[in-house]
Formats: sequence, C-alpha cells, structure tokens
Amino acid sequence: MALPGKEPTIAHVASISVECADCGRNRWWRPDQLKRFGVTGNTPLSALSGRIVCSACRADGLPGTAISIQAAFVDERQRVRSEARMLSDRDVPLEGSRRA
Ligand SMILES: [Zn+2]
Repeated sequence: MALPGKEPTIAHVASISVECADCGRNRWWRPDQLKRFGVTGNTPLSALSGRIVCSACRADGLPGTAISIQAAFVDERQRVRSEARMLSDRDVPLEGSRRA
C-alpha cells in the first residue's frame, strides 16, 4: 500500500522518460503533457506505469503497456541549471575582457 505524502508525485518531477520495450520508442514527457493520461500533480510515480501506454503500439493493435518510466526530478534539473549558469557566468567575463 502506498504511503501518502512520502511517495514522489508528478509535482516533484520535471519530466518523464517513457521507453517502450515493444517498439523501442523513447520520448520525454513534460508533466502537463501527461494530463491526457489522466495524470495530475497528485498522481504518484508508481501509478504512471498503469496509465501511460505507447500510442505507437496502440495504433498497431498492441497493448502498448511494456513501457519503462524514468523520472527526472525538479531538484536535479535545478542543480543542472545552476551549474550551467555558473559556466556561462564564467564565460561572459572572459568574453568581455577579450573584447575590451
Ligand atoms: Zn511501443
């Protein structure tokens, strides 16, 4: 049984990677793109596999449920973005001193 409040939900997630084992398709979804699957910010990650199906396989008449889901968390993205900002901050003065 799920533990309410402890389980990560869609609200914690920056994006979701959905890979289909049947057709090999892999794509990233933003949380707001998951609304079509009935997924909201309160949906626990563990509930995703039962909701998201591979639309390409469904179009071929296959169940499309052989998917694996990977979540990229908001915190991780923030860390990556702040590192990227540090790098660009370092670049900007270099660029400026070269021009001056
Ligand atoms: Zn598929």
